[in-house]
Amino acid sequence: MYWESSVETMEREALEALQLERLQKTVSDASLSVFYKKLFSNIDLEPADIKSLDDIRRIPPTTKDDLREAWPYGFLAVPKEKLVRMHSSSGTTGRATVIFHTAGDLDAWTDVLARSMYMAGMRNTDVFQNMMTYGLFTGGLGFHYAAEKIGALTIPAGAGNSKRQIQLMKDFNTTVIHIIPSYALHLTEVFEEMGVGPRKDLNLRLAFLGAEPHSEKTRQKIEEYYGVKAFNSYGLSEMNGPGVAFECPLQNGLHIWEDNFLVEVIDPRTLEPVEDGQEGELVLTTLKREGMPIIRYRTKDLTRIIPGHCDCGRTHRRIDRITGRTDDMLILKGVNIFPIQIEKKLMEIPEVGNNFLIILEREGYNDLMIVRVEVQKEIFSGDLKQLENLRRKITEDLRSDILITPRVELVEPNTLPKTEGKAVRVIDNRKE
Ligand code: ADP
Ligand code: ZN
Repeated sequence: MYWESSVETMEREALEALQLERLQKTVSDASLSVFYKKLFSNIDLEPADIKSLDDIRRIPPTTKDDLREAWPYGFLAVPKEKLVRMHSSSGTTGRATVIFHTAGDLDAWTDVLARSMYMAGMRNTDVFQNMMTYGLFTGGLGFHYAAEKIGALTIPAGAGNSKRQIQLMKDFNTTVIHIIPSYALHLTEVFEEMGVGPRKDLNLRLAFLGAEPHSEKTRQKIEEYYGVKAFNSYGLSEMNGPGVAFECPLQNGLHIWEDNFLVEVIDPRTLEPVEDGQEGELVLTTLKREGMPIIRYRTKDLTRIIPGHCDCGRTHRRIDRITGRTDDMLILKGVNIFPIQIEKKLMEIPEVGNNFLIILEREGYNDLMIVRVEVQKEIFSGDLKQLENLRRKITEDLRSDILITPRVELVEPNTLPKTEGKAVRVIDNRKE
């Protein structure tokens, strides 16, 4: 049941010894890059000063801005001829960052992802349909090579082209899909349109959901509609891409592969570590990357370490589902709100459909939050009172959580804009 049991179930002590060894090599390799050479000289640090895992805190965290400023080659720790591939982030929050890989880096990445998919139950007898963008985005090629390594028949479907996706699933008996959760919800409408029912007409059994925050309810909705077990997959291009952390069959947190990544959770204001169990910003260090080692990368993703052991026997610690990015946070009338809070509440209401959009406006001196929600078609054929009651219920449910009264607008299914990639949840019209 393990891909690589000696690593996955390694005793903590041995795992930490391995981490220290790899951290020392990482710091020493990194000192060859323009960026870290300067940084280490500023703080007067020699690689040999790293004698314990805690010593890493002597090095200040690296940010996305550092990567942007050192663009494109400032983090390279090997001669360019050693590089075999580049990827970049999606650019959700500004200029995309670029990451370069050696052949060894690609092997290590493929390995952690194969380990992840195998853990969730994928085998060489499966047919794997990868519905993520191929190209610079890491969700395509990353999963592709790992699926082939497991030995599954791999269909590089790419993103979008919904009808063809469904046709491929039907024609080739797809059993496992990799899909962005908001797209999985959207696709349910195309299934209806085509008169195909995933449960009765298809053979799907597993889904890997990644690339954007989603609530437990959304997972359940997808599991029910598709008739699959759905697993949360977390990663970011700065740390290769997917394969950083992944759910095991117990679906109770994501094991973060600590032989490849050193994990910290810090308070984003003080930069001090928080206790296990407390939420904070995830900070990661590559432990096995040759081309472009990154030390203490501030992911901006908010999560917590789940204390205790996992019954699956893996010793790598678990992080909780990501609740948002520090830069996703909306500040409205002084209240901090994450889009996932809205999603969570909405998905608990059975009449709510598959998509929603938050629009922020300034009205006079006041901020106004409009939440546009797709609701099931039948609601619109009922009487107006029913519609108004639903609108009131949604408003009240949201208000009780975010403490602000949004203006809720109900719209018909399929009317809000869709993307093939990560969903755009917020439009902020206040900064004009
Ligand atoms: P960008 O930062 O431009 O979006 P990436 O494509 O590298 O570029 O995306 C990585 C980010 O996507 C993560 O930092 C995180 O915010 C988000 N993400 C990825 N997987 C998940 C997941 N399973 N749950 C929540 N957020 C995720
Ligand atoms: Zn587990």
